[in-house]
Amino acid sequence: MPYAVAGPREQRAAPTRVAVLGSTGSIGRSTIDVIEASAGRFEAWLLAAHTSVGPLLEQARRLRPAWVVVVDEAAAATIGPGALPAGTSLARGPAALADLVAADEVDRVVSAIVGAAGLDSTWAAVGAGKAVALANKETLVMAGPLVMRRARQTGATILPVDSEHSAIHQALAAGRRDEVRRIILTASGGPFRTRPIDTLAAVTPEEALRHPTWSMGPKITVDSATMMNKALELIEARWLFAVPAEKLAVTIHPQSVVHSLVEFVDGSVIAQLSPPDMRLPIQYALTHPERTDGPARRIDFSRPMTLEFEPPDLERFPAVRLGHEAAARGGTAGCVLNAANEAAVAGFLAGRVRFTDIADACERILDRHPFVAEPTLEEIRRLDAWARQEVCSWSA
Ligand code: NAD
Ligand code: MG
Repeated sequence: MPYAVAGPREQRAAPTRVAVLGSTGSIGRSTIDVIEASAGRFEAWLLAAHTSVGPLLEQARRLRPAWVVVVDEAAAATIGPGALPAGTSLARGPAALADLVAADEVDRVVSAIVGAAGLDSTWAAVGAGKAVALANKETLVMAGPLVMRRARQTGATILPVDSEHSAIHQALAAGRRDEVRRIILTASGGPFRTRPIDTLAAVTPEEALRHPTWSMGPKITVDSATMMNKALELIEARWLFAVPAEKLAVTIHPQSVVHSLVEFVDGSVIAQLSPPDMRLPIQYALTHPERTDGPARRIDFSRPMTLEFEPPDLERFPAVRLGHEAAARGGTAGCVLNAANEAAVAGFLAGRVRFTDIADACERILDRHPFVAEPTLEEIRRLDAWARQEVCSWSA
C-alpha cells in the first residue's frame, strides 16, 4: 500500500493545550464549557484567576491542568497543601503568569482577564508568538499598534473573541481587503436604549447590570449600558483589522443575533448570525481555521424572528462619539479613554460616580491629556496611571 489514509480520528494530532487567563470570569467559564465539550480536542494546560480561589480550584479538580496561577498573592496564600489535584502545580503573581503563558507547552492562549490588568499577560503571549484568542479588548485599545507590530515580529496570531470582531473576521473572508467599503459593528443598545434621557443620571448600578441580551462580567455590562463598550470595540477594530477609523460605523440591533457586518464596494453586505452565546466566538478562535460542532446555541428558523436596526442616538450615548474620535486620533487616545472609563466604572459601581458622569469623565480626560502620537509601552502605562488618578481625584 503506497500510503495509509487515516480516518478523521486517527488524523487528529495531540490535544491543543490551552492557557485560560481569567478562567473564573464569564468568558473564562464559557471557555471551560468549550474545552469540556470538545471531546479531547482541547486540554486546559493553565488556568489563571485573580482572587476567586474557590471556583479556580473547583475548575482545576475537573480539568486537571498542569498549572493554576493565582495572580493576587494574598489570595494565593490561602491555598493549603493538598488543595490541588495530583499533577497540578500552583504559581502566584503576575510575573509567573507572564512566564507561563510563554511556555513551549502552550498552543493557544485565551486572554480573558478584564481591563488593563490583561495587558501584560497578553503582551507576553504575543511576544512568545502564540495563537491568542483575544477577549481582553482593552489590550488593543491601550496599545493596538504596539501589540499588532509585535505580533508581526513574532509570528503570533490574534484571533478575536469579541463577538463583533469574530463576525467581522468571518465576513471579511467574503472579499479582498481593498474591496471593503465599511465595517458596521452591531450593538444591542443595552438596557437604556429607550429610557427617557433626562432620567439617565439617576441610573443605579443594579439597573445598569441588568443587560437585556448578554450575560457578562460587571465591567463590560456597565460598558454596554453606556455604550462605552462600542467605543472600545471601534478602537479594537481599528487596530485589529488595520482599517481607517472613517470606515467604521455602529448600528443598534437590539436582538444581538447579527454580530456585525462588512459592506463591500459593490454594495453587498455580509453578516454573521447566531444567538448571543459567547461559546461560539470562543470556539471559533480556538479551532480556526477549522470549524467543529460545539455547545453554542443555534438559531431556530422554525420560529418567527424579527431583526431590527437603527442608528445610535449620540446624545443618549456620547461614548460612541468618543470611540470614533479616539479611533481616528490613535496614539494615546485609546489608552486614556480606557483608563478613565475603568476608574469611572469602578466609581459608579461603588456609588461615587453618576452614570452619566462616566462618559463626561472620559471626555475630559481625552481632551486634556498630554497626547503622544507613537507612545512606548512605558508611556502607555504612565498615562494609564495618570488618567485613573485624575478620575479618582474628581470622584473622591
Ligand atoms: P469577568 O469580570 O467575568 O472575569 C474577569 C476574569 O479576570 C476573572 O477570572 C478574574 O479573576 C480575572 N481578573 C480580574 N482582574 C485580574 C487581575 N488583576 N489579574 C489577573 N486576573 C484578573 O469579565 P468577563 O466578562 O469575562 O470579561 C473578560 C474580558 O473579555 C474583558 O476584557 C471583556 O471586555 C471581554 N469580553 C467579554 C465578553 C462577555 O461576554 N463577558 C464579551 C466580549 C468581550
Ligand atoms: Mg463585543
